Amino acid sequence: MNALLLHEYIERISRLFDSEIRWVGAEHNLQPIQLNALHFLNRSNRYSNTVQGVTEYLGLTKGTVSQTLATLESKGFIKKNADKKDGRVVHLNVTRAGQKLLEKTMPSPAAQRACAGMQEKEQTQLIENLKQFLTAMQKINGMNAFGICKTCRYNQKITENKFFCGLTQENLNPKDTELLCREHIPL
Ligand code: SF4
Repeated sequence: MNALLLHEYIERISRLFDSEIRWVGAEHNLQPIQLNALHFLNRSNRYSNTVQGVTEYLGLTKGTVSQTLATLESKGFIKKNADKKDGRVVHLNVTRAGQKLLEKTMPSPAAQRACAGMQEKEQTQLIENLKQFLTAMQKINGMNAFGICKTCRYNQKITENKFFCGLTQENLNPKDTELLCREHIPL
């Protein structure tokens, strides 16, 4: 039963991450879910750093997400900014204080140490296998992939420093292409 073993290993790893994050978050009176939301917002692009993006990514109810974001905002870790083109859209941008907090927590110090004990080739293989497993599970659950922009089929490279999104018909810069997107479609 490989599925059972995979389930058990991944669940155990998640719990280890959670307990580590809980410990760091406690210094700031933050729950793991609040740090996870902050981490997502720090890596998400302008189409995804919204209440809806956080709700879809974390798979939580809107009420829980609203409370989570209200806490992050009250502590100065995120700031709301209206979209320049569409005032109905509100972006949730991570502040410098939020970024500094994330630098201490992500990646998890234990994960960094465990990785350091593995060969580069083993790390790459493990990442690829986990990516495939995650993609398969997201398909089964009908969830958005939230992949990295540069691996999306809509991403078009125009020049070395200029990219274009075929879906939104907007220009992208190199930094945009490294971020997570809720509209991502794998190549
Ligand atoms: S290219 Fe894909 S991932 Fe990038 S912004 Fe467009 S839809 Fe999102």
